Amino acid sequence: MSLTFIDNLNFNQDGKYISAVKVPHSTNDSGWGSLLLPVIVIRNGDGPTILFTGGNHGDEYEGPIALRKLANEIKVEDIQGQVIIVPYLNYPAVLAGTRLSPVDGQNMNRSFPGNPDGSMTQKIADFVYRELVMRSDVVLDFHSGGNSMIFEPCTVLHKLEDFNQMKKTVLAVNKFGAPLSLLLNELDSKGMLDTAVEKNGKIFISTELGGGGSVSPRTLKIAEDGIRNLLRHFKILPPNEELVPKTKFMHTPDIGGYLMAPQEGLYETLIELGEPVTKGQVIGRIHSISQIEVPTVEVQAQIDGVLVTRAGRAPVKIGDTIAVIATDIDVSKFFDTKS
Ligand SMILES: [Zn+2]
Repeated sequence: MSLTFIDNLNFNQDGKYISAVKVPHSTNDSGWGSLLLPVIVIRNGDGPTILFTGGNHGDEYEGPIALRKLANEIKVEDIQGQVIIVPYLNYPAVLAGTRLSPVDGQNMNRSFPGNPDGSMTQKIADFVYRELVMRSDVVLDFHSGGNSMIFEPCTVLHKLEDFNQMKKTVLAVNKFGAPLSLLLNELDSKGMLDTAVEKNGKIFISTELGGGGSVSPRTLKIAEDGIRNLLRHFKILPPNEELVPKTKFMHTPDIGGYLMAPQEGLYETLIELGEPVTKGQVIGRIHSISQIEVPTVEVQAQIDGVLVTRAGRAPVKIGDTIAVIATDIDVSKFFDTKS
């Protein structure tokens, strides 16, 4: 069953349409109730279409805040083309402040391309994929570390087979202007919005802008400046010659890049985000909570690099990602004007 818009949403007419998508949601409190997922469409004439999504995970807040502000601030006459904004992709999760949906327990970013007859999360994914992604040229999906991780603020991209698609992505990421850009090897890429967009040959950019269930002035500014920089890059806002801060491209090696907690306890991080580490260096300690005399467990870096992610809170369980270390990569071939 396909979901329906309420209000006067229209992709083909110029104007700003603040609307909602109706997702039937029968509960004990509301027998014939619906979830009303906000969708904002702004169009002015022909031009590229960009889709901004936040709240893919409900405990990551730069996207929802920056996109709600954008929806109010952006004027039809400012743009050329189309801007589609979904500030709270997994709306029930954002309302609950949780990573996953409290309605069906599902991870929105493992639910694409979705299922019109599935659970609420699968229905929303199906609607977003068919109605919004497929009419967009570029998709920017905001993430941060959520309750359980904190990142050095960065944009995220993936290694793509198609050189031209990769080049366009690298140039867009560069223009976004986050201090760091990570070429990520996703641990679990099936069902991600990222994969669904990229396999259609479109440009996809994600972010990891902090975390720990909070936002900072710094991470929010990176989000808001990045939105404007990207709109200028694709000429949806008038381009200007404003100098964008340089991003540093790094990647996260499969072997040694990701460190998991070997036991539960309280994690003491010894290294600030963005600091260099060397192989064998002790970067954190895990203290048993219940057994006072048990020696602390030291966590050592497996490779040389820079700490880009750490646990977002001190209590950790076995298997939690507690540190991610990134190393330099050379992306100069994508900036070669001859290629
Ligand atoms: Zn996320």
